[in-house]
Amino acid sequence: MDFKDFNHFKATKIKESTLEDILEASRNTYPNEFMALLGGDKKAGVVDEIVIVPATYGREHAIIHTNQVPMDFRIMGSVHSHPSPNAFPSKGDLRTFPRLGEIHFIIAYPFDLNSTRAFDSAGNEIEFEVIE
Ligand SMILES: [Zn+2]
Repeated sequence: MDFKDFNHFKATKIKESTLEDILEASRNTYPNEFMALLGGDKKAGVVDEIVIVPATYGREHAIIHTNQVPMDFRIMGSVHSHPSPNAFPSKGDLRTFPRLGEIHFIIAYPFDLNSTRAFDSAGNEIEFEVIE
């Protein structure tokens, strides 16, 4: 995929209903990891869609099969859950992020707003704002 059309985000916004769906999916997938791509309005920097793609779910990690990722101009990044309270990217996450976009959410146990963090593709934490 080619992400050259991205601005480099220092912050992002996410729709409340989208985040709620992500938190619920993370709880439902526990103790395995939930993983999906995120779509939205890149110009406005608003994530508003979960894009379910073929993935292998496991207790340790989930793998998105990047060759099956749709070439969707709305895809902004990814989201996955951690079955532990650690919401920071693993070494594997840092290898995967640049291939999946520029905005990456990690939802750690217990899968609520306080255990949610957002990162850029280099793994730097960025601010996120929940909007209506
Ligand atoms: Zn991870």
